[in-house]
Amino acid sequence: VTDQGKRPPAGARTGAVSGATGEMIFSGDELLRGDTLNTNQCYLGERLLDLGIFATHALTVADDLDAMVQAIRASLARRPVVIVLSGGLGPTEDDLTREAVAEALGRPLEHHEDLLDAIRARFASRGYVMGDSNRKQATIPRGATVIPLTGTAPGFFVWHGPTLVVALPGVPWELKQMWQATVEPVLRDRPEPEAASGSHGASASAGASGSAGASNSDSSQAVRRIRTFGIGESTLAELFKDYDWHDPEATIGTRAHLDGVTLILRGRGSAEGLRKLDAIQQRVLDVLGDKVYGVDGEGLSEIAGHMLRERSLTVAVAESCTGGMLGKCLTDVPGSSAYFMGGVTAYDNQVKMDVLGVPAGMLAQYGAVSEETASAMAEGVRDLLRTDCALSTTGIAGPDGGTPEKPVGLVYIGCTIGGVTTVERSIMYGQRDQVRERAAYAALDLLRRRLLQAVEE
Ligand code: AMP
Ligand code: MG
Repeated sequence: VTDQGKRPPAGARTGAVSGATGEMIFSGDELLRGDTLNTNQCYLGERLLDLGIFATHALTVADDLDAMVQAIRASLARRPVVIVLSGGLGPTEDDLTREAVAEALGRPLEHHEDLLDAIRARFASRGYVMGDSNRKQATIPRGATVIPLTGTAPGFFVWHGPTLVVALPGVPWELKQMWQATVEPVLRDRPEPEAASGSHGASASAGASGSAGASNSDSSQAVRRIRTFGIGESTLAELFKDYDWHDPEATIGTRAHLDGVTLILRGRGSAEGLRKLDAIQQRVLDVLGDKVYGVDGEGLSEIAGHMLRERSLTVAVAESCTGGMLGKCLTDVPGSSAYFMGGVTAYDNQVKMDVLGVPAGMLAQYGAVSEETASAMAEGVRDLLRTDCALSTTGIAGPDGGTPEKPVGLVYIGCTIGGVTTVERSIMYGQRDQVRERAAYAALDLLRRRLLQAVEE
């Protein structure tokens, strides 16, 4: 069972119960050609749902003015709470979002000299001189509010009837920053549907309307993401088979990823709806126990990091099949220098012996991919870097090198804490990269579970 193909809650479909809906329009030939993966859609879809807004449409449109205008008009006609446009705000000929919004909304484009100054200053701060082509970036539709720059492409938003039309740059990190800093607060404080309709030109007042946050109203939706590791989708389906996964009051969807399976509960944002979600969440926690590593929020690297920090413990890694991915995951977290000391990528047996002190006889007897070697690698790097804890990975990532006894995907993960070393054996499926990434997450998860036990003891 996946989250795709599930029906939206009744309110979002009929409009009668007026569930808040949102739409996305992506511009860019590069997206249609397959040169660029549309990661903005993943990001925006998730963020909208977190705001209680159900995304009903996402359309990718060529860099073509007529196509863009048509897409915006069709979307406006469905009267969503928000239309997010991504891309087409750059300085080149194919950047047409400003023109398209102006035409679809029937508002002229206006030049903002202060915006041009801000763009110029951005270039200057990095030692560049702004070119003439950037001039057009300082024009936005009349009545629209400029979103403060994150890169050099300004975004903007404008209320059109009940709909907030938002234009954001295509560059993913610029889009995210603008979303978090500006768009999300405006949407959180959006006026109730009745109050908003007919309020053309209410652009700047959106945040100051004083109305209660719509996210708490009965028509809003709520979502919980329960993150698990070490349990498959089919097992989850089996464990909760007595539950109606399509219950419009509280649907359950799953999303399988290399960092585990996430159960996505979706229901109503009303007090009663939230109680229902709480009850299901509690039941899931009761059944899955320590297989649940979090609800919403943080990933395995952050969680393992917090646990190390709270306990004032340091960690090191000895990586074979993950080739540095585990160290990368740990250092993805800002502030990880407080607990992560370093690692050894011991890919070759000689390095396992020379640097980590894995005995030659052990490698000869059991092989590099073995419980014994994983254990010796973890203890070796712990002693080398004088840490409290250490993790190790050794496995057969493939596509070659598998045997009947040691198939492709076989991975041993070692973890040593306070003088006690444990090793877990798994057979990961997927191709080379999936095996390696899964192995890195499995190591983080083993560390997390070992640290949990250390507290209980
Ligand atoms: P644009 O704002 O249209 O000039 O886009 C700037 C760059 O952002 C493009 O060259 C792409 O590399 C990237 N980009 C645009 N749209 C997306 C998207 N939906 N998802 C991920 N990257 C994107
Ligand atoms: Mg573009």
